[in-house]
Amino acid sequence: MIRNVGIEEIWDGRFYGYQDMVRVGCHDCEGCSACCHGMEETIQLDPLDIFRLSIATGKSFYDMVEHEIELRLIDGIILPNLRMAAESPTGSKACFFLGKDGRCGIHPYRPGICRLFPLGRYYENGSFRYFLQKGECRRTDRYKIKLRDWIDVEKPLQYDTYICDWHYFVKGISQSLAYLDENEKRQAYLYILKQFYGLPYETDRDFYEQFYRRLEEARRELLCP
Ligand code: SF4
Ligand code: SF4
Repeated sequence: MIRNVGIEEIWDGRFYGYQDMVRVGCHDCEGCSACCHGMEETIQLDPLDIFRLSIATGKSFYDMVEHEIELRLIDGIILPNLRMAAESPTGSKACFFLGKDGRCGIHPYRPGICRLFPLGRYYENGSFRYFLQKGECRRTDRYKIKLRDWIDVEKPLQYDTYICDWHYFVKGISQSLAYLDENEKRQAYLYILKQFYGLPYETDRDFYEQFYRRLEEARRELLCP
């Protein structure tokens, strides 16, 4: 989800690259699952997240809707987000994947936003940089860890390129949709959901190759430069 706030209000004063040490280490969140509760619709899912969740659950995108995930209109476009469904002892709603032991049940396949937090991405001029959000993680004994190890993805530079391309594609589409009538918007929402999420990805093939073929098709179909 895009936060339209001045970065000065929420950052620690510097940007980080993959080789930088950043104070986010939290002993694997042992004894704390605050980030998995009460997040409402804020853990938005990109196509790679659905690719991973399909492997973790053995379910298709459409099978997961209304159980593990839900669809919401946010920032002018309908996209999936993690569903906060289970009632926790504190009364807040917890992520569907949070186990009774307070641990993530799909840790190796967790979505990108779960890998990122409490870092954020600051988008500017067709690119982005990582920054640390002040006051977001509850632990006070955090230690430094290399950003690359924190994000914990294969091929991090390719991942960043994908994240950037997806972000600006969604941004461009949501701006274009503002000029369409309700019926045209609906058609576009359905197309995007099917093109990037609903049509199953081949989980034994490279995700990025499949994504970029779909992105080219979508740009042609939706006339997005
Ligand atoms: S997917 Fe895992 S890490 Fe992310 S909110 Fe759910 S339980 Fe927490
Ligand atoms: S608040 Fe910090 S320690 Fe707790 S779950 Fe979130 S990142 Fe982990």
